[in-house]
Amino acid sequence: MPQAVAYAIDSPTGRFARTTIARREPGPTEVLFDVVYAGICHSDIHTARGEWGPVNYPLVPGHELAGIVRQVGAEVTKVAVGDHVGVGCFVDSCGECEQCQAGTEQFCTGPGGTIWTYDAIGRDGLSTAGGYSTCITVEQDYLMRIPAAIDLVKAAPLMCAGITTYSPLRRWGAGPGKRVAIIGMGGLGHMGVQIAAALGAEVAVISQTRSKEEDGRRFGASEYYALNEPGTLKSLRGSFDLMVSTVSAGSDLTRLLGCLKPGGALVDVGLPEHPVELRMGALVNGNRILAGSQIGGIAETQEMLEFCAEHGLAPQVEVIGGEDINDAYDKVVASQVRYRYVIDTSTFG
Ligand SMILES: [Zn+2]
Ligand SMILES: [Zn+2]
Repeated sequence: MPQAVAYAIDSPTGRFARTTIARREPGPTEVLFDVVYAGICHSDIHTARGEWGPVNYPLVPGHELAGIVRQVGAEVTKVAVGDHVGVGCFVDSCGECEQCQAGTEQFCTGPGGTIWTYDAIGRDGLSTAGGYSTCITVEQDYLMRIPAAIDLVKAAPLMCAGITTYSPLRRWGAGPGKRVAIIGMGGLGHMGVQIAAALGAEVAVISQTRSKEEDGRRFGASEYYALNEPGTLKSLRGSFDLMVSTVSAGSDLTRLLGCLKPGGALVDVGLPEHPVELRMGALVNGNRILAGSQIGGIAETQEMLEFCAEHGLAPQVEVIGGEDINDAYDKVVASQVRYRYVIDTSTFG
């Protein structure tokens, strides 16, 4: 069986350490690929630290994988040895239910449901382990092809941060003539700004402070607002056709909804730990919409990659080694990353 060098954590308060894990020999429709880069998503941190519920330790997180195909099963047609491929938040689903048929495999209702890239049980009955590892075996249908125009190191964060912002921007009509606000400018937000601008929308950033204003304008925003300045949300009442909130801290939803034009939509992609309060009048008065959005399906993720390649969009990354993961987690939590840490697995030794 192929062996992978990986970084695993063994308790909510533990530290990542180097280990070895077994990957399965690729079956007829499976692909074994060498993970070259893996992004660090805030979800990895919530999961590793047990903040979203019980976890099966030891845990190897990572759902932003980019790498190179090493070996393919006899019936694989989607990719060939040497191709650049990526994997996002899930590695399998039933393929037959209404959701899978509609291309929203992330909502699979079949037996076993969506099988997440880590901390889930795969069809083989074994725990899934994510991208902080040197190789992985995946069903071909759950791989994305990475366009040649996107460097592997920049492709990794697109697998979660890219699709998580692309999907709601497309679904809710970001485009020419639309005024779109991206709330929060971290790993997700900085991609959201670029994608919304490339779709032709007029883009505003709503951030805590002005510390990232120069970056926001460089990514394509024409307006920048800081919540720590008094009266900001009041001054923005009735301004936007669409707002996408990428912040996981519980925000003042009622006042944010007030920043929408009548009929506008606020789409949340963040997952606050605690329930948030909402005054229903904020929705009723003005036919406003509050919606959620969770990643995207395989076909839409592939579409997002082609879109980013065509428009030259890419995350701004800081490359780190395996030994830096613990430190990087603390910096992500402290909002010190600009804008995504990507682990270089060649440092695993
Ligand atoms: Zn993620
Ligand atoms: Zn399904």
